[in-house]
Amino acid sequence: MAKKLTKRSEDYSKWYNELVVQADLAENSAVRGCMVIKPYGFAIWEKMQAELDRMFKETGHQNAYFPLFVPKSLFEAEEKNAEGFAKECAVVTHYRLQNDPDNEGKLRVDPEAKLEEELVVRPTSEAIIWNTYKGWIQSYRDLPILVNQWANVVRWEMRTRLFLRTSEFLWQEGHTAHANKAEAIAEAAQMQEVYATFAEEFMAMPVIKGVKTDSERFAGAEETYTIEALMQDGKALQAGTSHFLGQNFAKAFDVKFATKEGKLDHVWATSWGVSTRLIGGLIMTHSDDHGLVLPPKLAPIQVVIVPIYKSEEELNRITEVAKELQRDLRNVGVSVKFDNRDTHKPGWKFAQYELQGVPLRIGIGPKDLEKRTVELARRDTLTKEFVAKDEVVNKVKDLLVEIQNTLHERALDFRNNHITKVDTFDDFEKVIKEKGGFVSAHWDGTEETEDRIKKRTKATIRCIPFDADNETGSCVLTGKPSQQRVLFAKAY
Ligand code: AMP
Repeated sequence: MAKKLTKRSEDYSKWYNELVVQADLAENSAVRGCMVIKPYGFAIWEKMQAELDRMFKETGHQNAYFPLFVPKSLFEAEEKNAEGFAKECAVVTHYRLQNDPDNEGKLRVDPEAKLEEELVVRPTSEAIIWNTYKGWIQSYRDLPILVNQWANVVRWEMRTRLFLRTSEFLWQEGHTAHANKAEAIAEAAQMQEVYATFAEEFMAMPVIKGVKTDSERFAGAEETYTIEALMQDGKALQAGTSHFLGQNFAKAFDVKFATKEGKLDHVWATSWGVSTRLIGGLIMTHSDDHGLVLPPKLAPIQVVIVPIYKSEEELNRITEVAKELQRDLRNVGVSVKFDNRDTHKPGWKFAQYELQGVPLRIGIGPKDLEKRTVELARRDTLTKEFVAKDEVVNKVKDLLVEIQNTLHERALDFRNNHITKVDTFDDFEKVIKEKGGFVSAHWDGTEETEDRIKKRTKATIRCIPFDADNETGSCVLTGKPSQQRVLFAKAY
């Protein structure tokens, strides 16, 4: 059996790493900074993908696929984007290996197989996509283009953590093309809203919507809209971003269209993405010292049925009831696993499903058969009750809704209790150091001040929130005038 997890209060980061491995979500690989996502972890990603994909399609988008490699000349066309990502790029220079004459049994790069043009492994796909869109767009009739791709990208990150920051990660990236600025801005805002809805309603993870400051903005964007979540250790997580790209990529790739009025204009663009980082966010929002806690809407298994038996005859009788229950629950759309493995004891199974965050566990023993009951255990509250067999289906349906809501409320309470207004720099430092969470403070609007605050406290501006009251004030650091409060936090 897996050993007990380190307590969150002892070492949050250790707890997180142990949980990811022991709950069988992912593990480190032979490649530095790259992870293996195991079947149970991947099942959560598939659930996320299915919901997001549905939401993208409901808002008019279609999926497509573009190459993994970006020729360097295309990559460097949009200068700001290229500069922003250059330091994290993996680059393919050769296309063949050969036996190494100086080192028997080893291979080396064939010096004669050097690529004429180096290929950048995509850290993001604007360049290759806008080079393609050039061929797709001639007139306003070709617009808008509303495309998404599910893909992997590579950013050579120096400090990595399973799910939260890896050198290769899975994501989706939407890339849209529009005939005018207003429509592109509306699209970027709409996709931020889609991400926020997904985070709140499916992940049960409260998020704050806002825009990024200049220093945190996506390289090549005019504006970056973000959703920011708060983890249990008081650190913020950028959970999703949606960019208004202006005409920057259209200009870099010379993508023009004939307008309704018969003029030529550059196309307007957006891009937006969420990644496997969301799984890290999900873990750090809800889980406890016993392991993973999953919101029912994203749990690969919503209910597990565990038989408690001594003899084969008992197991057979329990199996009959369990199978019937499994069928009834499946008929109302609940995903159920009946774990009748003989290789593990019930106690082991209980601990394992607790560790893996299965929202509801049903235990059935010989006594339950007599009384026509089952034991129903909730993962979120760790409470148990006996329920009459005939009432189980309705009870499970209600509880899955209740658990989803409870998790959201719990996370929202925590988040709201960790937004602290401060008006002096002393208080700022104190809150960041002792309490964590978001600090709501006035800022003079300059990159220089943002940078000085970061150097002194490690906190950065997570976003300029949309819902701020229009209270003016003076900057916590410089005392200069400020138009509104912004949210600072230490972040993942
Ligand atoms: P960006 O293209 O930089 O706006 O990022 C799009 C999404 O991917 C955001 O939600 C980021 O938080 C996420 N992301 C960025 N870098 C990584 C990484 N190294 N690992 C996992 N997710 C990432």
